[in-house]
Amino acid sequence: MTTVVTSPPMACLLHAEVHPMTSTCWGTTLDWYLLHDHLEQAEARDAYQAAVEREMIDRHVRQQPA
Ligand SMILES: [Zn+2]
Repeated sequence: MTTVVTSPPMACLLHAEVHPMTSTCWGTTLDWYLLHDHLEQAEARDAYQAAVEREMIDRHVRQQPA
């Protein structure tokens, strides 16, 4: 029997979208957490979520024709 590990969709900073994380995605996420390890855990989670949302908006804006 094979165990399929399905990770729940998460906010991915690398791709600026919510999807099941790959190891590449986790690499970016962990780097972000390391850069922000002065924050409380809950604070860091909120800040990470905000960072992904900001990135989503930035990319969306950049996709608009000038
Ligand atoms: Zn990703």
